[in-house]
Amino acid sequence: MINFNAGPAALPLEVLQQASEAVIDYNRSGLSILEIPHRGKLFDDILEESKVLVKELCGLGDDYDVLWLQGGGRLQFAMIPMNFLAENATAGYVDSGHWSTEAMEYAAYYGKVKTLSTSKEYNYTQLPNWPSLKGEDLSYVHFTSNNTIYGSQWPEIPKSEIPLISDMSSDIFSCRRDYTNCALFYAVAQKNLGAVGNTLVAIRKDMTERIVRSVPPMLSFKEQVAKKSVLNTAPVFPIYVSLLMLRWIIDKGIDAIAQDTNTKASLLYNEIDRNTLFTGIVKKEDRSKMNVVFLGKDKKMEQQFLEFCEENDVTGIAGHRSVGAFRVSLYNAISVANVQTLISLMQDFEKNYQ
Ligand code: PLP
Repeated sequence: MINFNAGPAALPLEVLQQASEAVIDYNRSGLSILEIPHRGKLFDDILEESKVLVKELCGLGDDYDVLWLQGGGRLQFAMIPMNFLAENATAGYVDSGHWSTEAMEYAAYYGKVKTLSTSKEYNYTQLPNWPSLKGEDLSYVHFTSNNTIYGSQWPEIPKSEIPLISDMSSDIFSCRRDYTNCALFYAVAQKNLGAVGNTLVAIRKDMTERIVRSVPPMLSFKEQVAKKSVLNTAPVFPIYVSLLMLRWIIDKGIDAIAQDTNTKASLLYNEIDRNTLFTGIVKKEDRSKMNVVFLGKDKKMEQQFLEFCEENDVTGIAGHRSVGAFRVSLYNAISVANVQTLISLMQDFEKNYQ
């Protein structure tokens, strides 16, 4: 099957093969990767290499720490304000859709939340304007680099005097980015970075001095940095799968990946714009290269096309329940050829549709 799901998402076959081999015998240790201790040389090496590769890919220096945490994107929605937003202080959020909104809701448990800009009135079919932060007194500014559900994406990471925090769950390592413009960024693994169970967090060292309240160690960035991601029993296997993905990305090269990302997205958007049965939802300039959302002619046609795709070994293209119709996710494991297969199906379906 070609899996266009938004997450858990497709993984490259090589990564699946290497992960499977490690389940039987990790690195000829005689132990399964599921059995190796989380404190010990075998896992230390995995952790260390993964951190080095993240830094290499993001161009991060010694002023950043790289963590693997659990609890998914939502725990970051909570941990960020828990650590950095005092009760009577304000955090700024750029609201570009579902995940930004949810992050704001979590932050409201801890302090004041200011919506710096929003595209809610357009039902998030475009990005909001990037806000002017002049004169703002904010603990941090949070934004979502790619809107997995609504299918819009910020083309770059702006510079900001106020610490900038980004949820990069659905477009990390899909193109070159100015990661160092962020004081902290995070990404769940289950899209571009492996299996479900671990979340990448990169945090600039000075941020640990900005922690505003005492929180239990598991929820404290300072403690997690001090314990180097092994405060509790770390999820060894998903972190290993992320390492395999990182090696795969490095091997392919981020420029080649970015080029493929552009090719895949432009091929698919061109077909959506050409095909008489499909219509794009998002304003052209703001379209995501990772999650392509579009409508069919009507509900009946949409259902028929979904079935036609499944019959032809293409899965995961149904839209999110809150937006509907179609969403095709073009993460790194999806090849240009996979997208061409989908396009052929769209064309065949159009020819035979009455
Ligand atoms: N942030 C973004 C951009 C996402 O796409 C998702 C999930 O799809 C999340 C956060 C939530 O992640 P989790 O389900 O791991 O909490």
